[in-house]
Amino acid sequence: MLEIRNLHASVGDRQILRGVDLVVPTGEVHAIMGPNGSGKSTLSYVLSGRDGYDITEGEILFDGKEIIDMPAEERAAAGIFLAFQYPLEIPGVATMTFLKAALNAQRKARGEAELTTPDFMRRVKVAAEKLNVTQEMLRRPLNVGFSGGEKKRNEILQMALLEPKLAILDETDSGLDIDALRVVSDGVNALRSPNRSMLVITHYQRLLDHIVPDVVHVMSAGRIVRSGGPELALELEANGYAGYVEAAA
Ligand code: ADP
Ligand code: MG
Ligand code: MG
Repeated sequence: MLEIRNLHASVGDRQILRGVDLVVPTGEVHAIMGPNGSGKSTLSYVLSGRDGYDITEGEILFDGKEIIDMPAEERAAAGIFLAFQYPLEIPGVATMTFLKAALNAQRKARGEAELTTPDFMRRVKVAAEKLNVTQEMLRRPLNVGFSGGEKKRNEILQMALLEPKLAILDETDSGLDIDALRVVSDGVNALRSPNRSMLVITHYQRLLDHIVPDVVHVMSAGRIVRSGGPELALELEANGYAGYVEAAA
């Protein structure tokens, strides 16, 4: 599904990614952990096609196809989903309306017809029930006054509706409370599928108590420096990142 080879990326004259190698096969959930500032979020932005990053070397193959020159909208249409770290609040726009617009934008980019309202309502109902999103929440303005957990639930619902082939979740140092943690892990587990790959980026070992990844990678100073099974997350919790930081220096 995803094959990254020797990826180098910079912002202005600052090099951030320094030779990332990463392969995520179809159907697997991989976690990326690593110290603050190691380039985890940068990698997720580069994968989603966000502007402002110069790819100076390397390749990114998605479904066997090079995507470095593909604009963000095309990547999204092709099935790459990046969850928002800081969800937008849009007063005056019902969550339901936003979800419909997001889904129809994706269909338009794929050259598919817009969903009819009944069709959309059916899909949203199925997904919302699976993720315990209430009808009341869907009627409220997007993210306005939502708790951290509700925002996460909404984000996971959006992901469920868009049915990505590759979902990237970047859980920053901003902190997940227990409610949000459970929402993210239940959501990820519910959306695990043989046809879908997921990349869960986290600073927190405890997220991986709930989402048991197939593979854990450690990122340090812009590279993947170690990969292993779920037990690697436990080892990191016990020993911290200090050894990796020193090795990188
Ligand atoms: P992580 O997500 O692992 O904490 P980031 O990808 O956010 O790491 O950042 C990696 C490094 O790149 C940090 O030193 C950060 O300060 C720097 N960085 C990130 N974005 C920018 C930017 N837009 N301009 C300059 N430096 C940046
Ligand atoms: Mg950070
Ligand atoms: Mg980050």
